[in-house]
This record gives sequence, structure tokens and C-alpha cells, in this order.
Amino acid sequence: MTMQAWMAEGPRWPSRTLRAAVAAIPMLLVACDGVGDGRSASPSPDAPSAPLEPPAPVENRARALVETSLRLDLAAQRGEAVVSIAASQQPGVSFDVGALEIHSVTSALGTLRFRQQDGQLDIGLPSSDGPLDIVIDYRFAAQDDFNGWMPEPGVSFLWPDFCGNLFPCRDEPAAGQRYRLTVSGVPEGNTAVYPQRIPAAAPAYMPAVALGDYRVLSLGTTRDGTEVKLWHLPGEAEHAVDGTQYLAQSMDFFEQTYGPYAFGDVVGSVSVRWGPGRFGGMEHHPFWHVASEAMGSPEIHAHEAAHGWFGNGVRMACWEDFALSEGTASYLAARALDQQGIDLWPEYECRLQRVCTDERVNTVARPSDCNAIRLRDHPLWSDVPYMKGAQFLRQVAERVGANAVDDALARFYRERFGTEARMQDLVDHLRAAFPSESLGIEALAQGWLYQRACPSVPDRVCR
Ligand SMILES: [Zn+2]
Repeated sequence: MTMQAWMAEGPRWPSRTLRAAVAAIPMLLVACDGVGDGRSASPSPDAPSAPLEPPAPVENRARALVETSLRLDLAAQRGEAVVSIAASQQPGVSFDVGALEIHSVTSALGTLRFRQQDGQLDIGLPSSDGPLDIVIDYRFAAQDDFNGWMPEPGVSFLWPDFCGNLFPCRDEPAAGQRYRLTVSGVPEGNTAVYPQRIPAAAPAYMPAVALGDYRVLSLGTTRDGTEVKLWHLPGEAEHAVDGTQYLAQSMDFFEQTYGPYAFGDVVGSVSVRWGPGRFGGMEHHPFWHVASEAMGSPEIHAHEAAHGWFGNGVRMACWEDFALSEGTASYLAARALDQQGIDLWPEYECRLQRVCTDERVNTVARPSDCNAIRLRDHPLWSDVPYMKGAQFLRQVAERVGANAVDDALARFYRERFGTEARMQDLVDHLRAAFPSESLGIEALAQGWLYQRACPSVPDRVCR
């Protein structure tokens, strides 16, 4: 019997770890060939004695996911996820699977056992000393409430924790992995805009697909060689071109100021039909989405681009660190547009004024704890982390200089890229970068991030 034959017979499941199974194989060869020392081969303690059952499903959310290759058939609503699972001394692996209908889970070892309950998929995967690939075949349901694949507008929306309605994932913001994407079942006359590859670790809300009758324009190439594009829908060319006129320069500013961009060498804004009254964007790098109604807003385009550095490049450790993503992206957008003669601060001050004076909106920007809240229905999902976070950085810049803050943010990005960080990590980093202003920076953090009342309210006449 050869190893191939052993594999071809179907899985004889190792009782302990893969390492133990592989170690047992030479002994099985000896026993089958009838050669050896003349005595009958008796099974060693490590050898599988009979065809064993595949291991039972075990919960293991700590086992990292390295890369997911997704094939999505949008017409059939079928998906195949090939997931590279990290080595682990603990067996099992778990995913968030929302409303997915799981058909099968297989690996090179054969069919794997799984159980699905309360939106979680637990798989009976042995422990291993190296990465293991598994294949999950499944069906995903159509959604209509910004919680998965929405066929009617032709757009996916996974923020904040709906990834499990489209593919097996880990929905916490700190969990990063690489992605590959293939999309089929695209209706006649439509283009599917999606990245074939996300080459650096990204949170699970980042991969996205948009369908539409897209026209694509090149907006220019940065000095680092990143091509910046615009995908717009019919009838919106004028305001889309108008809104993106600063985007290539903004990308160039981010790259030159904060560090290299990591999610591809072609990027851009994709107009999506979120529907009336939904203004904004979503940081689906490298092809971030911007609501059709917001395509004329230079701020939204710059803000979504900035998430390539904060939110995606450096991920949030906890949902409570929303300000690390949104406050910093808002601040970076203001910095990039300021270089091009656009002052976002009057508008930001009005937004901050609203946050500070509306009792129904105002909250602490960085609540204590980690992942104790569910952001999708928590009051923190508001303008508070955006505007208080940006104001905190602006007031640090008033003390030490905006260029010095840029340098400190660049070092933070370099040090924390590809990992998660807390807002307090950034505060500590700034205090260490400016020792003579450390106490002042701590006071600003207390005022803008950790207490509800605003330390000051912008004195400005706002609409
Ligand atoms: Zn944002």
C-alpha cells in the first residue's frame, strides 16, 4: 500500500493530530508489505487501528484564517470558499456563517464533519503543524437590508458584521486575512467590479462586489505607481468626475505622507445604488464604494481612500475602537484636501457641533471594554467617533504641528500595518512621539475620547 492508496481509500481518520497520522504511515507500509523483522506487526500506540471516524466538530475561534479564495456565483447564489487555516495545536476551526446553507466541508484528508448553530460553523479539523486548506461549499441567501448580497441594487454590503451572510468568515474587526475573489453569474449588460486579489491582511467587511452598467475612467497614477480609477453609472458622469477631481492627488498624498499602499496597484471609487437618502461610502479597498448620491463629494472619496491606511491597513482591535478607523480617516481626508485648497474643517465643525449639542447622538467616542457592544445597533455607530476623533488629532496638531502629527501617524502605520490596534495605542504613540506635550495629549484624549461632554463646542453658525 502506498500513501496515495491510503489517501484514495478514503480518509482513515487520525485519532490525534495530523503529525501523529503522518508518523504512523511508514508502519502501515511495513505491515501491509509483510516485510520487517519477521514478527507480526503490532500497532503502535500512535497508529490508527481501524478506519476511524473523522474528528467531531470542535469550536475554535482562536485558530487564524490566513487566506480565503472565494468563488461566488451570483445567479445561483452559490459559493465556494477555499480557506487556508493556520497551524494550531488545538483542533477544530470555527466561522461566522450567518444565514449560509453549508453543503459540504472537505480537505485533502477527505470529508470533514461540521455543525452549524446560532450563526457559527464549527468544523472537525485536526490540529496541525502547518497550514491546512479546507473547501466549504455553500449557498447564500439574497438580502435586502444592507446585510449581505443585495441583488436588487447589485451590491454587497457586509459592514459591520454581516460577512457571514456572504461567505464563511470571522466577523470581528481585528481578524485579518488575505482574499482572492472570482465572481460569475453576472447578468447580461452588467460589469462586476471586484478585486481578484486582496494581497494584504484585511478585515472581513472589506471584500465587496458591485454590479452595474459601469463606465470606467482613469483619474491618474500616483508617484508610487498606483493607478486611480472611477467607476460611474450612466447619467452621473458630470458629478462623479467633479467629485473625484482630487482623488488621485489625495492617494498620492497618503502614500507619500503615511507610507506605501498595500491593497493593490489599481484603486478607485465605485458608484453604488444604495438608494435615496443614503449618503456616504464604504471602505472596500481597493475598489471602495460610494453612494451614487455622494459621488459629487470630494470628502467622501478622500475619506474612503484614507481607510486604506486606518481601518483596513491598521485594523480596529475592538468595535469600541471605531474612532481609530473613522476619526483618523476623517482627519486624513482633511489633510489631503487641505493640500489642494479644500478646507473641510468648517463642515467638520458643524458636524461636531451637532454631535456635542444633540443629546440623542452624543456618546463617549471610545467606550471601555472590547467587543462588548454590537456596533450594528449601538449608538456608537454615529458621527461621534468621526468628528471627536478628528478633532482630537486636529488639537494635537495645533500643539505640535500638523506635519509632525503626519510623521507620527506614518510611524504608527509602519509599526502596526497588517495588525489591529486600539485607539489608546495611538494616544500612547502620540504621547511618546511628543514627550514635552504628553500630558496635554492625554488631556485631549480624555476630553475628546473618554468622556461624553465635549471639552469645547465649535462656535459657528451652521445650517
Ligand atoms: Zn469611514
